[in-house]
Amino acid sequence: MVNAYIGLGSNLDDPKKHVRQALGELKQLPRSQLLLSSKLYLSKPVGPQDQDDFVNAVAMVITELEPLALLDELQAIEQGHQRIRERHWGPRTLDLDLLLFGDQSINNSRLTVPHVELGNRDFVVGPLFELCPGLILPNGTTLQELLQQCPIDGLICIDA
Ligand code: AMP
Repeated sequence: MVNAYIGLGSNLDDPKKHVRQALGELKQLPRSQLLLSSKLYLSKPVGPQDQDDFVNAVAMVITELEPLALLDELQAIEQGHQRIRERHWGPRTLDLDLLLFGDQSINNSRLTVPHVELGNRDFVVGPLFELCPGLILPNGTTLQELLQQCPIDGLICIDA
């Protein structure tokens, strides 16, 4: 069993609904168990600003799935939300990112883990800190260090 952290985001068509529903779908992942999910947060979009704010959360599952099998499952959930993406960094009904997969570093044509933007996004670092403040990345960087590099700026918790 491996601990995997998954980032969720949505800014279209009732984003809270999409994120909550996706958390429910993560509970149904095969050979896996959803152990933790963060509160929901509101964040400013990265890239084009002429779009709504995002609702974000992070979940932690323990899983027997291989990383690519887990990615397949996450992409199937995204597809189930009629994910539409018209432009890079544009609005989307649901985005699921595999942030961390145990202490593994993975780099292949479909998957980079830890997620390349993990340390640059307060909407990832903030909820991760809520779930697991003592987390250490595969390269030895602590979440505390990431927080210092990526201050929480404008992230609003919306379901305290
Ligand atoms: P995006 O929709 O911008 O999150 O990008 C989706 C693409 O990123 C897919 O083609 C994935 O194969 C690829 N990808 C690479 N690393 C990851 C990761 N850690 N989590 C999710 N998708 C990833």
